[in-house]
Amino acid sequence: MAAAATGGVLLLVEDEDAIGRLVKAYLEQQDGWTVVWIKTGEEAVAELRRHPVRLVVLDIGLPGIDGFEVCRQMRAHSKVPIVMLTARDEEPDRVAGLELGADDYVAKPFSSRELLARIRAQVRRARGGSGPRAEALAVGPLRIDTGSRSVTLRNRPINVTTYEFALLRALAERPGRVLSREQILDLARGSTEETFDRSIDVHVSRLRQKLESDPRHPSLLKTIRGLGYMLVDGTPATHSGEPDEGD
Ligand code: CA
Repeated sequence: MAAAATGGVLLLVEDEDAIGRLVKAYLEQQDGWTVVWIKTGEEAVAELRRHPVRLVVLDIGLPGIDGFEVCRQMRAHSKVPIVMLTARDEEPDRVAGLELGADDYVAKPFSSRELLARIRAQVRRARGGSGPRAEALAVGPLRIDTGSRSVTLRNRPINVTTYEFALLRALAERPGRVLSREQILDLARGSTEETFDRSIDVHVSRLRQKLESDPRHPSLLKTIRGLGYMLVDGTPATHSGEPDEGD
């Protein structure tokens, strides 16, 4: 899917030279960004206060204050989209980052393309989803058209409520990522004018009735115990997590 370069000033907070150099060069060449690369959290917080940027890419492991604290301090005065970089297999860390106000995360090692895709998704979200920015999301046999607000499963239309659509969209925009209930609530609120109620578990359960051939052993909409929910493509799991509980 070709997209026009995004551009703008992006603040990259990363202490590792190799990663910083690579990310800076890639984003500048591939997507027209001007990347301000800073290696410590303290300097990054100060930089953001002086010069607003369009987006922040923030590593968690930093000398001095870590990425979580940087995120918290930035959120005290800025709504700038923040994409965190996390070490592999630190799912609880990722959820902690999201709860501190980060908008998304990318697990290391990541490909530059993956990071760019997530950055573009955040830029689209920050634009407020207004205008003809409809997207077709696909996760395994599931297709979600955000323009017509329609859902199909193996090309068969599925009727979903506004709540269910918002929930499914939040998960489908981050396939294979665990989202906490709070995070789902925040994201779902952003994509519907209706008041989103807190009974996420009830909506998940109803969605499973519509999507899963065996709702008690879901293959698409997974519960990750103690963390939240995740949408996967339904093929045999690469995620070596605990067995699913239907909740
Ligand atoms: Ca680091």
